[in-house]
Amino acid sequence: MISSRSTKSSKRALINPFDVQKKLNEISCPACGDAKFQVTRVEGNPDEEHFEAACRRCGLKMRVVVIPRVVIEGIEAMEPPEERQVLEAKCPHCGGVGARFQFRCHLETGVDYDVVTCRHCRRPYRKEILPGR
Ligand SMILES: [Zn+2]
Ligand SMILES: [Zn+2]
Repeated sequence: MISSRSTKSSKRALINPFDVQKKLNEISCPACGDAKFQVTRVEGNPDEEHFEAACRRCGLKMRVVVIPRVVIEGIEAMEPPEERQVLEAKCPHCGGVGARFQFRCHLETGVDYDVVTCRHCRRPYRKEILPGR
């Protein structure tokens, strides 16, 4: 599991909560379909950045985990290709295959998902994490 890594933390640029909020709103709320997320930074693991996101319409709450690019690249390099499913995701906007991982959303209720961006049209979309993975 990604969040249990314990490598030393290094200096890195902090992610702006507004960037997270913008992407969440572009994809819209999985429960009500609205685009009114409010995002606040919370204490997280030193290797990750954690945010709390809440939908102002339906009250859906989630924990957003942003993993620095270097950590992701390390994980991708170690995993067999079948584990890199998200990178071969199909874009619902343009149909292009291939995506970049942005951050993971742990929902209080509902199915967790990853937010990825299309390598072709660069639009973000939701990729659900299937149970048992
Ligand atoms: Zn909602
Ligand atoms: Zn696309």
